[in-house]
Amino acid sequence: MAANWKMHKTPAETADFLARLIPLLAPAAAEGAPERARVCDIVVAPPFPCLPAAATAARGAGIELAGQNMHWETHGAFTGEVSAAMLLAVGCRYVILGHSERRQYFGETDATINRKLLAALNAGLRPIVCVGETLAQREAGQTETVLREQLERGFLGIKATQAPPCILAYEPVWAIGTGRTATPELAADAHRYLRQRLARLWGDSAAAACRILYGGSVKPDNIRGLMAQPELDGALVGGASLDPQSFAALVDF
Ligand code: PEP
Repeated sequence: MAANWKMHKTPAETADFLARLIPLLAPAAAEGAPERARVCDIVVAPPFPCLPAAATAARGAGIELAGQNMHWETHGAFTGEVSAAMLLAVGCRYVILGHSERRQYFGETDATINRKLLAALNAGLRPIVCVGETLAQREAGQTETVLREQLERGFLGIKATQAPPCILAYEPVWAIGTGRTATPELAADAHRYLRQRLARLWGDSAAAACRILYGGSVKPDNIRGLMAQPELDGALVGGASLDPQSFAALVDF
């Protein structure tokens, strides 16, 4: 269950969120309490300046951190960018790549996402790669073509041996921040299609090992229906991850 905070919260608000979230969560399975053990991985992606505060506040709580983006180079004259090593140094183990807002507002392409993906894997970060169609593309019957192209171009050159840390997030653009969720069946269809395409790239077993998250207006009142679909391995959550009660409800649904 991954929280994408986008451009929300200060370091103080981050610490406050985690202080309120942690007591609401069941303990991680590895920490015991089998009768109410948490069975999912939790990832929080705060804005860059909040990562040190998040790392301190989340220590020992079984919550991992993600960057919301990164550059593919290790260092250099790239004003406003951060590298994989910088994310690792402030406690990230994950990085979100190719979010539709990055594609839409910051000109990210499948080619730049591919460079970032290679750099993230080389550095040892687990990438959460976002793909998804716009409403116009869905209505024009282009969903599968769009997903196939984003996947094949984004994952160009990634070998089956590099597959295990990769996470894919299916985020239909029309469902992000709109309150309009994909039906569980529609999400399952897209996930099934993505899994088939991954199998073409990597073979069945590597494709089966890759987690595919759903994202797009996931909320405590629709999580059960979505996660009842075996094709969905988890969720990438924007708006509903900003409140500790609501995110805890998603984690512990
Ligand atoms: C997202 O930002 O990845 C997202 C899915 O947002 P929301 O849950 O607000 O639709």
